[in-house]
Amino acid sequence: AVFKRIDQVEDKVKSYLTITKESAMAKAQEVDGKIARGEQVGPLAGVPIAIKDNLCTEGIRTTCASKILYNFVPPYTATAVAKLNAADMVMVGKTNMDEFAMGSSTENSGFQLTYNPWDLERVPGGSSGGSAAAVAAGEAILSLGSDTGGSIRQPAAFCGVVGMKPTYGAVSRYGLVAYASSLDQIGPFTKDVTDMALALNVICGYDPMDSTSANIKQPDFTQYLVNDIKGMKIGIPREYMAEGIDPQVKEKIKAAIDKLTELGAHVEETSLPHTDYAMPAYYLIATAEASSNLARYDGVRYGLRVEDAEDVVDMYMRSRSRGFGHEVKRRIMLGTYSLSAGYYDAYYLKALKVRTLIKRDFDRAFEQYDLLLSPTSPSTAFKVGEMVNDPLQMYLQDVCTIPVNLAGIPAISIPCGLVNGLPVGLQLMGKAFDEGTLLRVAYTFE
Ligand code: GLN
Repeated sequence: AVFKRIDQVEDKVKSYLTITKESAMAKAQEVDGKIARGEQVGPLAGVPIAIKDNLCTEGIRTTCASKILYNFVPPYTATAVAKLNAADMVMVGKTNMDEFAMGSSTENSGFQLTYNPWDLERVPGGSSGGSAAAVAAGEAILSLGSDTGGSIRQPAAFCGVVGMKPTYGAVSRYGLVAYASSLDQIGPFTKDVTDMALALNVICGYDPMDSTSANIKQPDFTQYLVNDIKGMKIGIPREYMAEGIDPQVKEKIKAAIDKLTELGAHVEETSLPHTDYAMPAYYLIATAEASSNLARYDGVRYGLRVEDAEDVVDMYMRSRSRGFGHEVKRRIMLGTYSLSAGYYDAYYLKALKVRTLIKRDFDRAFEQYDLLLSPTSPSTAFKVGEMVNDPLQMYLQDVCTIPVNLAGIPAISIPCGLVNGLPVGLQLMGKAFDEGTLLRVAYTFE
């Protein structure tokens, strides 16, 4: 049914960079056979899933939507994907994204645009736009994305699906192509909160292959799907409902707050005073880490290598110049600048200090509240081409999502009504490793 749907809509939506129909059908048949023989199957047996193209898949092209990796076929599979395979899921294909996950609209892909299934003139959000659009359009039942500053939650909001960034360390990053390693986290897109709990059950957990993976016992997340939030304390950080947020989006968020109050939650305004500094701190830290992580694309070990080079240095330079897109180059330059001698203390180190202040804001808030609530994104999906030439405007898309990554805490975006026919996302932010409480509150909206 999913491949039929792909045949119907993929030429309009363009969620996928690679479709793996042959191996998907073989896997589906294998799972069918197990069921027919009465053998044990995994918890998500036969469910069709799409994977963002920055997650390594053995034997299947993994491009990060970059020309520099146009021909890269990984020799191993990311842990999160391997766990889904072991749960007997069926991978349908690899999804489009902003190149190396840098962007908020998927327009920075080196290969193609992806369109929002709700309105084909609009972007699906980004950077995991292909994964969000695939689930929204019925081209997959579930998908994986990555979230460094909002790349799961913002496209989930734009496409009207559920998206979660788990706590840093909750899902192994082994096999996730690094953008900003201290911020990156893998998470699912699903059609509802029940599916989210089922997906987290499969992908969370300790992995010795990722040195930042948390070695803690994870709960069965379905136990939080209970429809009871009486007495729960919820804070609304006023900085997240400030000027930049579209008034119609705010109205929808207020309606959601009213509903939670009706259900017996205590909701009140609070403050995260350092929120204004999250954006500049993020763009210093993320670009610094990116400039270091992306140094490995030198045309020697894998990916694009130009043939017309004069010597080895010329080969590095030409391969990188030809392989990387504009936004990636901009970030490598910004990051290299802020890490260079003489600027390091003034920019990078300062940004790390700000990061600590932001984390402390959250720590203080969570002494009083079980969770915090905000819009996911300042607006609904914007038009293709509207922002792509204005990087600063594009960066502002993530004002509500970025602080969460800096603090390492979990957050979920769930659909919260429509404005002019386009989905609005509601963000719930929780304590580290308390994904359960997010699911519990999110579930009351179903
Ligand atoms: N839009 C943000 C950026 O461009 C976040 C991207 C992400 O979460 N991968 O960096």
